Amino acid sequence: MIPYGRQHVTDDDVAAVTAVLRSDWLTQGPAIERFEADLCRQAGAGHAVAVNSATSALHVACAALGLGPGDRLWTSPNTFLASAYAGLYCGAAVDFVDIEPATGNMSATALADALAAAELAGRLPKVVVPVHFAGRSCDMEPIHALARRYGFAVVEDAAHAIGGRYRGDPVGSGRYADVTVFSFHPVKVITTTEGGAALTGDAKLAARMRRLRSHGTTRDPAEMDGPPDGPWTYQALELGWNYRMTDLQAALGSSQLQRLEGYVARRAALAARYTRRLAGTGLTLPPVDPEIDSAWHLYVIGWDAERAGIGRRAAFEHLRAAGIGVQVHYAPVHLQPLFRAQGFRPGQFPNAEAYYARAITLPLHATLTEEEQDRVIESLPLSPEQRRSVAA
Ligand SMILES: *Cc1c(COP(=O)(O)O)cnc(C)c1O
Repeated sequence: MIPYGRQHVTDDDVAAVTAVLRSDWLTQGPAIERFEADLCRQAGAGHAVAVNSATSALHVACAALGLGPGDRLWTSPNTFLASAYAGLYCGAAVDFVDIEPATGNMSATALADALAAAELAGRLPKVVVPVHFAGRSCDMEPIHALARRYGFAVVEDAAHAIGGRYRGDPVGSGRYADVTVFSFHPVKVITTTEGGAALTGDAKLAARMRRLRSHGTTRDPAEMDGPPDGPWTYQALELGWNYRMTDLQAALGSSQLQRLEGYVARRAALAARYTRRLAGTGLTLPPVDPEIDSAWHLYVIGWDAERAGIGRRAAFEHLRAAGIGVQVHYAPVHLQPLFRAQGFRPGQFPNAEAYYARAITLPLHATLTEEEQDRVIESLPLSPEQRRSVAA
């Protein structure tokens, strides 16, 4: 089976992890600080807080921003559950903003319309979580302008997008968002096994996220309530969690990060090759924007059942039977039973629902070969006319 995504682990990675295993610090040691500094350098960010998953990073970001009961978090329905769960973990209400049909990203126009209505109703969100779907940044300039106008915080879910750029700035620079969250799960662009990080330019926010990842405790006398009993004292200032990343994971992350540019370049080259070969088939392909350099986490096509003479589900099953590890991103979050139980219904976010109905994610990762990619293309159950239009 050719998987849709997979990690690439080198001898250098193994050596970096082994060195930590033989060191004094398996967790809470210097490898974490090094990885955080490496992330800041890569993204041009002020502060990075490494945690045990992007799910945790989204949670500590929202908690540190003060999201709580009575507040609202808005995100995209075309995402993984965690973007919305961050709101629920904080006791806030979650709502969604529909996507642009071409990119799968939150529509800034739909967001503007929803905000105007919410202002009238006195129901503005406290946090908005745009998701950089498939590795391509959302159009952040208008979203940032809306954040200033309506006073909400922006937490970018960049789980797909480390190594991407928006108008020349690396995703994570903090130019358009309060916090940017990366994931280092093995299917993502780089991995720490499990792992995630929250980046911000705001020192206070970073300090609070750092505290929340470690039970809400401090060892800094300046932050304590009264003088410490002694040098052993730590104080719990607020309820936090154990969301710490280990030093093994951080060492793997620093080692992987050195190859990020090469990984993204390889993914972009393979994506361009899919686009070139499939351009004549009438399949809907990811659009290209000169202002946005995608990290190309995913290559999602829109299946045209009428033209191919075979539906999306049958095409998916055909590809799986042929050993092609296709996937579907994403079943709209608002239609999950958990969210339907909160009153969400089909038809509320029609672009996300239409996107889902046609989406097939083709294999794309840094170690995919052109021969494997050719096998993917040859296995697509296209009509004879479409097949003739596949470029060599
Ligand atoms: C993978 C993913 C997450 C969660 O990442 P974990 O590190 O597995 O917790 C969040 N949002 C999106 C869009 C993702 O793809």
